[in-house]
Amino acid sequence: MKHVAIIGAGPAGLMAAEAALAQGARVDIHDAMPSAGRKFLMAGKSGLNITHSEDEAQFRRRYVAPDARLAAMVEAFGPSDIVKWMAGLGIEAHVGSSGRVFPVGMKASPLLRRWLARLGDAGARLHTRHRWTGWDAAGALTFDTMTGRVTVQADAVVLALGGASWKRLGSDGAWAEILANKGVAMEPFAPSNCGFVVAWSDKMRPHEGAPVKSVALSAHGQMVRGDFVITRGGLESGAVYPLAAALRRDIAADGRAIVTIDLLPGAEEAALAARLAAAHPKDSVSNRLRKAARLDAVKIGLLNEVTKGQLPKAPDALARLIKALPLILTGTAPMDTAISTAGGVPWDALDEGLMLKALPGVWCAGEMIAWDAPTGGYLLTACMATGLVAGRAAAQEL
Ligand SMILES: Cc1cc2nc3c(=O)[nH]c(=O)nc-3n(C[C@H](O)[C@H](O)[C@H](O)COP(=O)(O)OP(=O)(O)OC[C@H]3O[C@@H](n4cnc5c(N)ncnc54)[C@H](O)[C@@H]3O)c2cc1C
Repeated sequence: MKHVAIIGAGPAGLMAAEAALAQGARVDIHDAMPSAGRKFLMAGKSGLNITHSEDEAQFRRRYVAPDARLAAMVEAFGPSDIVKWMAGLGIEAHVGSSGRVFPVGMKASPLLRRWLARLGDAGARLHTRHRWTGWDAAGALTFDTMTGRVTVQADAVVLALGGASWKRLGSDGAWAEILANKGVAMEPFAPSNCGFVVAWSDKMRPHEGAPVKSVALSAHGQMVRGDFVITRGGLESGAVYPLAAALRRDIAADGRAIVTIDLLPGAEEAALAARLAAAHPKDSVSNRLRKAARLDAVKIGLLNEVTKGQLPKAPDALARLIKALPLILTGTAPMDTAISTAGGVPWDALDEGLMLKALPGVWCAGEMIAWDAPTGGYLLTACMATGLVAGRAAAQEL
């Protein structure tokens, strides 16, 4: 029996393990953390959005990858396969109103528990607190463990080490230096699905943590409806993430980006102006916004912030501002707070089966490969689809 070492026990590594076991390999899974799948569990905290139920061709177009291979992998193991795979673990899928797919119960822990149990039953051994540090002179994998340095000789290695955000969950991106030292030309990491920096005045302090609900955000001709959250240093969350790649590019080029906020996407500008004009003449502008436009405190706070407290009095100008409030973003939030990271192992460093051309016998999977996608289940689907390809190829090569 040939031996496949998987390093990284996130969804990509676990799927690689499953694929290698199915090919009859002996499988050992190593992870630096005290337990497996910590980011996967965190992803499940507010509902594990594992895939999406939209048309599968549309689904594949969501990926930003400089290589067609990712689309082919997501076609071979896409949303319907994920649903079947979950059912194989005894967990039904629940489709939310937006088409997003979750495991019934929303959480990741029951799924992860059953997945790890099934892998264990199939013979995989999990070695936690094993931090991979590279290779020794004899070509053996080296790990730092609680009892010192351990070396492992494997016939094939699958690296599934994650991106470079949420370090406390294990994905610290430190592996990039190990691969760079072995001649793999790395693409620098960049925050994706991330928050942005806004130079708020102190007047925004009371709104810190407040959700801005049912708005439409636009940038570069792309419009996203949803909510976002005001943070101490800027904004983050749902409606911001799909625009992140375009906003990040603007910031890199010009040092700033502008996102346009429609605070009342359901209202026509002319009707809104008429409602504002009909307000009681003695009402202050803020009261008119509250009563006639039904804006809450955080939306009124945003209008005051952008206009530096100089809200226009004319109803049509006020309505125009409510429908298209330009907010300047001056940076991305720290990479460690991003939901995912772009960059990592470039596609041209990998062969068809995701083996590193510079390191024969070493495959890569998951977020560590340079592709990008919005939230909506696209990230986890691609992690598992690439894990499947890498694990299968690693075992087949034997
Ligand atoms: C708050 C949050 C919510 C999210 N929600 C969703 C969602 O709803 N839907 C979605 O699709 N995606 C979501 N994501 C993103 C998703 O969780 C990740 O894209 C996915 O977990 C990446 O999988 P992976 O297996 O490639 O890497 P990871 O899950 O990051 O796993 C990598 C593993 O490698 C280990 N490792 C790293 N370096 C070493 C080393 N040197 N030695 C040994 N082990 C090492 C780490 O400890 C870790 O266990 C969310 C992310 C966050 C942070």
